[in-house]
Amino acid sequence: MSDNRQVDSKIIPAGQQENRDGTKEGMDLLINLCTLSVAKEQIRELLEKESQSTYHMVILHVGNISQLREEYGIAFAMAVLQNQAVLLRRCFQLQDRAVFCRMDKDTLMAFGQCEDAREMEEQCRQVQEKLQNSYFGRREKLQCRVTMGLYHVPAGERDLGLMLACCGKAAAYGSRCRIPLVVFEESMADEEIQTEDSLKMKVMADEKTLQYGSRFIAFAVNLLSDTMDLDSGLDMLVKQVGLYFDYDEVLISEFIQDNSTMVSNKWRREEGVVRNPEEINTLDIWDDFFSGFDKDGINLTCNVEERGYSERDMAFFRERHIGSFINLLLHCNGQTIGYMTCNRQRVIEQISEEELSTLVQLSKVISSFVALRFQNRQNQEHIESLRRDELTGLYYYGAFQKEVRRALYQSDPNLTYAMVYMDISNFAYLNENFGYNEGNQLLKDMARWLRYMNAKRCICGRVYADRFVILVTGDSREEIENQIRHSVSRFSDYLQHRYPMGDLQVRAGLYYIDNPETEIFMMIDAANHARKVIKDDYLNHVMVYTEHLRQTRAEKIQVVASIHDAIENGDVEAYLQPKFSMRTGEVVGAEALVRWHNKDGSLKYPDQFIPVLEEVGYIVNVDFCVFRQVLACLSRWREEGRKRVPISVNFSRVHFRDQHFCDKVMGMLREYEMEPEYIEIEVTESCISGNKVGMIQQMTQLRENGLKIAMDDFGIGYSSLGMLIDSNVDIVKVDKSFIDHYETEQEQQYINRIGQLVRAAGKDIIFEGVETQQQVEFLRDYGYDKAQGYVFSKPVPIAEFEKWIE
Ligand code: C2E
Ligand code: CA
Ligand code: CA
Repeated sequence: MSDNRQVDSKIIPAGQQENRDGTKEGMDLLINLCTLSVAKEQIRELLEKESQSTYHMVILHVGNISQLREEYGIAFAMAVLQNQAVLLRRCFQLQDRAVFCRMDKDTLMAFGQCEDAREMEEQCRQVQEKLQNSYFGRREKLQCRVTMGLYHVPAGERDLGLMLACCGKAAAYGSRCRIPLVVFEESMADEEIQTEDSLKMKVMADEKTLQYGSRFIAFAVNLLSDTMDLDSGLDMLVKQVGLYFDYDEVLISEFIQDNSTMVSNKWRREEGVVRNPEEINTLDIWDDFFSGFDKDGINLTCNVEERGYSERDMAFFRERHIGSFINLLLHCNGQTIGYMTCNRQRVIEQISEEELSTLVQLSKVISSFVALRFQNRQNQEHIESLRRDELTGLYYYGAFQKEVRRALYQSDPNLTYAMVYMDISNFAYLNENFGYNEGNQLLKDMARWLRYMNAKRCICGRVYADRFVILVTGDSREEIENQIRHSVSRFSDYLQHRYPMGDLQVRAGLYYIDNPETEIFMMIDAANHARKVIKDDYLNHVMVYTEHLRQTRAEKIQVVASIHDAIENGDVEAYLQPKFSMRTGEVVGAEALVRWHNKDGSLKYPDQFIPVLEEVGYIVNVDFCVFRQVLACLSRWREEGRKRVPISVNFSRVHFRDQHFCDKVMGMLREYEMEPEYIEIEVTESCISGNKVGMIQQMTQLRENGLKIAMDDFGIGYSSLGMLIDSNVDIVKVDKSFIDHYETEQEQQYINRIGQLVRAAGKDIIFEGVETQQQVEFLRDYGYDKAQGYVFSKPVPIAEFEKWIE
């Protein structure tokens, strides 16, 4: 057998290199520690030479060595013990005069000096923890149970038997009670331990008879148990096996489904380690593969020419230049999981006993790690499957974010990255009309399309329902945008084709990632915001998140965040715009319109905050705030004995979702003891034409309580004239857009016809947005009376309005 020059010598305890394979007298054959009798001699010498020092004895017991031995072979178990011994030495290495020995099959002893007992205990605690965790911490089953007994040798004590007994009792107590570290106390005196006689080397029968390269096995175990990456660990091991035994090729193959094997590790003398070989072979390319093995799972062929292999096998051997080989089956839990192959180009006479038994032991070690790797892989697959959405196979939202984080962490500054948020508008149409299966099918199609869209350069996730997120990589912004636009319009075409009546569109919001360290959810949020802005713009299905979007959005957020304070601080004020009788020139009413005072003295107008407040529902607070100011104003006028006119207040459609809206309005009226005839409620036409049952009820109730309802913005909504006549309103406010165009005969006729209809339905009519004297004259000529607009007055603060009604 060649010597072990290629083997990493760091695992061999220093100072013992010369005792290769423990041939020296008094050394434990298997783990290269001295025996108890030798250790005793050394201790006695030490005690004599340095009698003034303070000594301590440590007995270390590895609880599950027998179990490890049963499961993974003796070499494995011994390698574990040896590694424990190495660690133990390393931990106490500061003390050059420490003595170590193996007392028993699973027991090690250390004897050393230390002035401070506490320090010694602390050191032991650390050592125990280290030993306990040094093995396969990733897999419960392979973990050692290490207990330690510590005995502080009293000054002047020389009785070695007593020391061993006391220390042994502490260790036995620890084992029995499962306490990792026990310092001997008198109370343990009754603890049962093996007598000193029985502590003589009591090793397992097969330990003595077996001859194998124990250091090589120890190296293998150490290598594999320390590695975080079993693939590379096994790669390194096959290489070492090749070099150590002088093979030309060493492989590990695993059985996979369908009678196939996969080469998972491969080393060749000429090529070195072949990374990720993953060669798949079906077993039927070798005739009677299994019959080549003996009962121990070994197929040893010293000369391929002489074994009567089939022509096909021979062709295989020749092609690979294989003259002799040994195959060893790998087992786990009684099942064959693969095999290790060691090939030589040359033919050999025979194989040495030691080489064979080392390979056999090695195959057991390798088996346990191949099994572990298999297990890890399966866990990994399982974890991966948990990360993916069952329906579409795309990442779940959380997993997507993690993937993106990882991708951006390694991002290439020369590339451009973008976050894309997509959905299908009107997706509910599918579920409603075709059922969930059809909807699901479309989501699957969409997922597949997303994956193909940018192949390897994108990461796709599903947020929920029809909402998808994608991290797209490209060479430039233009490239990404073009690609997204192209893909989106193609998929939208497909949707149009498949569901012609569905009005289904893909919409995508795109956010370019300037700073890869931005929070992922912020990127997703920005892309989603861009998507939402697309709304009903059917020509443009892709929206890029721009600075302008960011700013308007920031403003909106600012509005939402500060509206409550603004109301509280009195910054929200009701202005009044007078309504005039064109016949008499008198003010006959007013409309309350809200204004928001900015800190700098400027004003915010309704279109800057009403829409966003409607979205979040806070508009109700604004409306009630205006309403209260109107009520307060009317009741003050009453007190001051002024002439009073009805004031109309705008109430958003949002109120009508609240079934207590009417009660709230009436409650406030009562609070101010206000006569209902002074209040008009303005609601928009589109709001009424929604014709929600609840809304009609509320309006009826309000009217029954004596309030008037005005239909605002008439003419720009969707209602038919028939609806107008039926509807529950008292006043119709004709939108400004009507009166903007009155010049032609045709336009005049049109306006007039509508006016007549409204009148015929018994409703009052008022024209809004009247800006010129000509308009006033036109309306008056046709017999209309009421109007509101800049030609008379803009909305003004209440105090200013009061001059109209003095
Ligand atoms: P609206 O109810 O149709 O109000 C009339 C709008 O037209 C007011 O704009 C008014 O200042 C403006 N206006 C009046 N006369 C003329 C004119 O001759 N020419 C032009 N170009 N405009 C005229 P404002 O005050 O900016 O309000 C805009 C909209 O905001 C309102 O339209 C209303 O829908 C909403 N709004 C205002 N105040 C409130 C409120 O307190 N609550 C709710 N829910 N909405 C409100
Ligand atoms: Ca209005
Ligand atoms: Ca209006």
